[in-house]
Amino acid sequence: MTGTQIFERVAILGIGLIGSSVAHVIRANGLAGHVACHDSDADVRARAEALDIVDSMHADIAGAVTGADLVVVATPVGACGLVAEAMRAHLKTGAIVTDVGSVKGSVIAAMSPHIPDGVHLVPGHPVAGTEHSGPESGFAELFQNRFSILTPPPGADADAVATLERLWQGMGADVEIMDAEHHDRVLAITSHLPHLIAYTIVATAADLETELEAQPRDDELVTTREVIKYSAGGFRDFTRIAASDPVMWRDVFLLNKDAVLEMLGRFTEDLTVLQRAIRKDDGDALFEMFSRTRDIRRGVIEARQAGRFQYTENGKPSEDDA
Ligand code: NAP
Repeated sequence: MTGTQIFERVAILGIGLIGSSVAHVIRANGLAGHVACHDSDADVRARAEALDIVDSMHADIAGAVTGADLVVVATPVGACGLVAEAMRAHLKTGAIVTDVGSVKGSVIAAMSPHIPDGVHLVPGHPVAGTEHSGPESGFAELFQNRFSILTPPPGADADAVATLERLWQGMGADVEIMDAEHHDRVLAITSHLPHLIAYTIVATAADLETELEAQPRDDELVTTREVIKYSAGGFRDFTRIAASDPVMWRDVFLLNKDAVLEMLGRFTEDLTVLQRAIRKDDGDALFEMFSRTRDIRRGVIEARQAGRFQYTENGKPSEDDA
């Protein structure tokens, strides 16, 4: 699909999975005249240059953002405040600054003090991703038919919001607008908690392996080999999610603490109900809950959010939402 050019110059800060996917699709769809880029990691900069997905690569933030009509901050969320501070003096009047972070409230709190008058902050979050990171993992179709949520702060410039909305639509996404607090509660249950559960279950299995390896072989119930061998069951999907970038997810949990803890509390209560049903041989309760969850999966498929990337064992793309 080829769109109409929306921006003269776009600066992407952080050229990992999301930043490089934005670069790919902007170029593929002709949405900007020039894509400038900065990443704090020299090795990442060299790899992104080799991929030929941006027009100019800059070792400093100033070089990338100077003259940009749109700045897309695509670093881990913990870096957004520092990045905003570093770009502050170099932003053009009338520019739009956005981000792609998985948490919105604390990112807005960290970035807004550094946004000068006349520059428009319109935070965003594409609900699309994979467990891979780095510039090589990006691809132009990542946002196709996925939601991109914009969380403009109260009083945000309506034209800037509309322009960013057009950009995301030009990148293939369906745009939703919501307030940051609502976003963080919704994503805590739909994305952050599932990742936390995946990290936990894989770590629990790893601990079990270690424990069993230390026991005499005759008593062994599960070995490392068996955990991997039988991971074609539900465990396999957990290992894929638990392979997600540790820096990104550390930041997400630290910066969406309240909402994640709230959802974790609710989840723990529901888990206890299931635990009790199993202990009491309450098959009806189990059946009722599993039937309800099956209906939810059908709803996800009907909403076209079931994930449509081809699963590959070692390569990209895979399927995941963040
Ligand atoms: P990624 O592949 O790890 O890319 C992030 C890049 O930013 C890395 O190259 C990193 O360099 C660089 N970086 C770190 N600190 C920086 C700084 N201060 N200045 C400039 N560059 C910096 O991560 P990602 O998956 O693209 O995630 C980026 C953002 O998108 C995160 O905020 C995440 O919450 C959000 N997001 C992710 C997904 C997903 O599924 N992955 C989905 C939606 C939204 P180093 O490698 O040296 O750290």
